[in-house]
Amino acid sequence: MIAPSEEVYSSLRGRFKGDLLRPGDGGDYEDARTIWNGMVARSPGLIARCADVSDVQNAVRAGYEHGILAAVRCGGHSLAGFSTCDGGLVIDLSRMRQVEVDPEARRARIAGGCLLGSVDTATQKAGLVFPSGVVSHTGASGLILGGGTGWLTRRFGLSCDNVEGFSLVAADGSVVRANSKENPDLFWALRGGGGNFGVVTEFEVKLHPLTSVVLAEGLSPDIRPLLECWRDFMAEAPLDLKWNVDLRLAPLTNKIPVDLRGRPVASSSLIWTGDPEAGRPYLERALSMCRPDSVSSRVTSFINLQTMADFDFPHGRRYYTKSGYFANLDDSTIDRILEAVNTIPSSETQIELAYLGGAAGRVAATETAFGDRSAPFIMNLLANWPDAAGDTSNISWIRGVFNRLRPAMKPGVYVNFMSGDEQDRVPEAYHERWERMVAVKTHYDPDNFFRLNQNIPPRKLAAKSS
Ligand SMILES: Cc1cc2nc3c(=O)[nH]c(=O)nc-3n(C[C@H](O)[C@H](O)[C@H](O)COP(=O)(O)OP(=O)(O)OC[C@H]3O[C@@H](n4cnc5c(N)ncnc54)[C@H](O)[C@@H]3O)c2cc1C
Repeated sequence: MIAPSEEVYSSLRGRFKGDLLRPGDGGDYEDARTIWNGMVARSPGLIARCADVSDVQNAVRAGYEHGILAAVRCGGHSLAGFSTCDGGLVIDLSRMRQVEVDPEARRARIAGGCLLGSVDTATQKAGLVFPSGVVSHTGASGLILGGGTGWLTRRFGLSCDNVEGFSLVAADGSVVRANSKENPDLFWALRGGGGNFGVVTEFEVKLHPLTSVVLAEGLSPDIRPLLECWRDFMAEAPLDLKWNVDLRLAPLTNKIPVDLRGRPVASSSLIWTGDPEAGRPYLERALSMCRPDSVSSRVTSFINLQTMADFDFPHGRRYYTKSGYFANLDDSTIDRILEAVNTIPSSETQIELAYLGGAAGRVAATETAFGDRSAPFIMNLLANWPDAAGDTSNISWIRGVFNRLRPAMKPGVYVNFMSGDEQDRVPEAYHERWERMVAVKTHYDPDNFFRLNQNIPPRKLAAKSS
């Protein structure tokens, strides 16, 4: 019997403009099959690295006809590893990285294979920004489709809030446009619904003027008072201020005061996007909670801000995550968090805390498919370790901490911070939006061709599994 991947290969060969890579093709295939999370090592039967929209259409049609398992890839940063598969087809958009900026209109067209870095480089040439994530090698498509949080979320909203139109290749291979006038239900679902509805080949987005920010950083070994201050302070903070707190073991580097190295600390990173003088009192108040000898504050370029964490999350290490929202960070939740910090199993593993609110919190819950905007505290438990020997301790630490904190969480989860073993939480992510999501999925992908994602089953499959 011929493998489906060989059938798809035969059908595409001769008319495909990009690269068709199969096992045995050597280095190119080996490079193309690896994704960011080293925990997920799979061997697709065929990687179709598309050169343009017609390649995407042909790959989708051929994959659909031959009933092959298909993964779609932009930056390959899915924490869950959804952008690869064993034996199936990977529709890889990494050759489609064009960004067209219209400086006058403050708009851009972003192709479906862009990394955040390609977007930032192009938009900054015009002194403009698109609000996205905090690591420049992350793919723009996966991030935007799931929602997209980052440094500018409080000032300009989620990434998906800044999308005005999508071009998508649907499961039948047709090109569909979605915006406020054309296919508005699909437009709604694509802003938070992940890769469920088809392959997005282009995003039309709004941009905002910004070229630099004030960046302030500091460490606090006294974690409880810092968290209490942060919790109360952020409730009243201006939109220009973003304050992220990572709870971790302080790095063993020269930059860190000697007595803090290797100790549990709260690592604060703040930015101020407005007039630096106006931000000074806010930043000083926040930094007063940190050890004076660990504090720094400076004006930095937007590009520097967007790339400064790139080396903290390298390709190929092993990562595992669980995430949730809190409506309040009450004292007993802080107790549980402190217990967790004292048992962190590896030097790069951390509890990331961010406060949403701001512009993202002002968008009505019904306006987009993105999950909860009302619970301002997002917690992401992110374990990061070098080799398989650390799998058990890191994964079980994340699961244990999550289970202990879960009763205090508000139901809901940000889909882009989920791992691959959490499909049962997908309805929780969309809660009151679930039925509408199923209806849109059923219309655009009735056979669930696009299923390697935080999956919303179409009606007939949802009925079978219930
Ligand atoms: C180092 C790192 C930093 C991160 N930082 C942030 C952050 O600051 N803010 C934040 O919100 N999230 C962040 N994330 C999470 C990130 O948003 C998700 O991992 C996201 O899925 C990555 O997108 P990608 O295109 O790289 O992923 P991929 O692995 O390529 O794809 C992820 C999912 O999206 C689908 N998909 C990809 N491209 C398309 C497309 N063109 N059309 C349709 N479906 C598509 C895939 O099928 C898959 O289901 C980060 C992740 C990592 C690894």
